[in-house]
Amino acid sequence: MQVKTQHDGLENYLTDASNMPGGHAEKLFVPESADDIAQILREANASGTPVTISGARTGTVGGAVPFGGYVISLERMNKIKSIDRETMTAIVEPGVILGDFQKAVEAEGLFYPPDPTEWSCQIGGTVATNASGARSFKYGATRGFVKVLTVVLAHGRELKISRGEAISTDGQSIEFSGICIKLPTYERPNVRKNVSGFYNARPLDAIDLFIGSEGTLGVITEIELSLLPKREGLFSGIVFFEREGDLLGFVNEVRELSFDNRNAAVPAAVAEASRRRGKAGRLPDSQRDAGATLDATLLEYFDAQALKFISGKFPETPDGMAGAIFFEQETTSENDDELFEAWNALLEKHNADLDRSWFTTNEQDREKMREFRHALPVSVNEFITKHKQKKVGTDMAVPDNKFPGFLKFYKDTLDASGIDYVIFGHIGDCHLHANLLPKNDAEAERARHIYGRCIAQAIMLGGCVSAEHGIGKLKAKYLNVMMGERYLNEMIELKRVFDPKGILGRGNMFG
Ligand SMILES: Cc1cc2nc3c(=O)[nH]c(=O)nc-3n(C[C@H](O)[C@H](O)[C@H](O)COP(=O)(O)OP(=O)(O)OC[C@H]3O[C@@H](n4cnc5c(N)ncnc54)[C@H](O)[C@@H]3O)c2cc1C
Repeated sequence: MQVKTQHDGLENYLTDASNMPGGHAEKLFVPESADDIAQILREANASGTPVTISGARTGTVGGAVPFGGYVISLERMNKIKSIDRETMTAIVEPGVILGDFQKAVEAEGLFYPPDPTEWSCQIGGTVATNASGARSFKYGATRGFVKVLTVVLAHGRELKISRGEAISTDGQSIEFSGICIKLPTYERPNVRKNVSGFYNARPLDAIDLFIGSEGTLGVITEIELSLLPKREGLFSGIVFFEREGDLLGFVNEVRELSFDNRNAAVPAAVAEASRRRGKAGRLPDSQRDAGATLDATLLEYFDAQALKFISGKFPETPDGMAGAIFFEQETTSENDDELFEAWNALLEKHNADLDRSWFTTNEQDREKMREFRHALPVSVNEFITKHKQKKVGTDMAVPDNKFPGFLKFYKDTLDASGIDYVIFGHIGDCHLHANLLPKNDAEAERARHIYGRCIAQAIMLGGCVSAEHGIGKLKAKYLNVMMGERYLNEMIELKRVFDPKGILGRGNMFG
């Protein structure tokens, strides 16, 4: 096992994609096995030394940024142990890079849907944050694909837990492997995506406590994932609209047709997510003629400012547009013609600028579209770094029926601020990122106030403070506002069962 100190490479592990300043640590460990990790944790627990778990540090909320103590990097635990075509499962170590895993799975004729835009993250990091992303519109977040987890707890005990092994029956407590936990009593907000605090659906599966726990309950050392069959064909487009009303009408109709057309043949791993997503309601039969089998995999939004901002890197972006939508549709040789027609009819109906929009069925062009989408958060991060500021980007989600009003609130508030901004993201899931682009300290100060107002508005509307990026260190105070003292204390009690001295992920979630 490698141990590094300040002078030989530790500095690379002191920040993440949030640019959070001030990270520091005494030692960096780079273990090669769960036994190594157990040994480090036993020692740290005995001395009460804080331990920060480091994945690929692509997180945007400072979760992997240490403030003292030890850092454990999982980069050497990066083996894909198996990919089984028969059972459609894979077993991986946590340090496997998501992009490498996607390729390996695809080579076996299989498909792993979680796609948090940034493919350089580690699978362990995506489980620890319950990462979601564009394709979550159809397939849900990482949670739906995790079958078995091995975790090393703070005092060095290794725990293996399988989905279905321990489920709370009374909604009050749960028992597994000799551990008894009193469950938090808070209700989850009625939103499509939420990673604000420990998961507590009812009934609750014990494995779900660890998914999205942001390095506060244990170190994830092995993961068994479920996979799906590789998709036969894909039809994708980035379509531009001159009027925002047309764009929003298009999104509403695609969203509802997609829910409507997802049938019972949906694989088990996504059945629950689809059921939950389908609750938005059905379109009247008279409106369904154009979309008999239409079912979008992703529906991503770019506002007018985002299109202008990105046009430096992509000069082919048309001018004067109110916004754009990136969509993807899975096809087969039997249904592709019918689907092209259905999408075309819908786009015409909602006045998309078809001449200037981009469409493809081939992998190379689709990769360019992905780059276009990925370039937005990357360019925001570059802008922030160039102007020596901290990121001020929202990640809230609100209930579906509050979404149009919340989008208007974003635009009115940000327009009035006079600070540059971009809004983009997962409009299919009623979840957008508004990123302010302050150019100096005075603008940054105002941007933080505006961010606080957006948080307050989302909470007031019954939403959550983080839909996918997590709480980490940067959003702990907002989690406090959302949950209130009573429920935060219930979360702290839960954490104490696994980590009595509070050494793991110190500062994450609880500040
Ligand atoms: C350009 C860009 C776009 C992004 N887009 C999205 C998006 O669309 N959707 C989305 O969900 N996210 C998005 N993200 C952020 C996303 O959270 C990360 O990409 C990823 O989930 C974190 O993985 P990581 O390996 O980098 O973890 P890190 O950043 O290293 O760590 C994240 C957290 O997980 C903990 N952790 C890491 N590994 C383990 C482990 N083995 N055991 C226990 N705890 C662990 C850490 O302590 C930390 O709290 C984006 C990030 C970037 C930079």
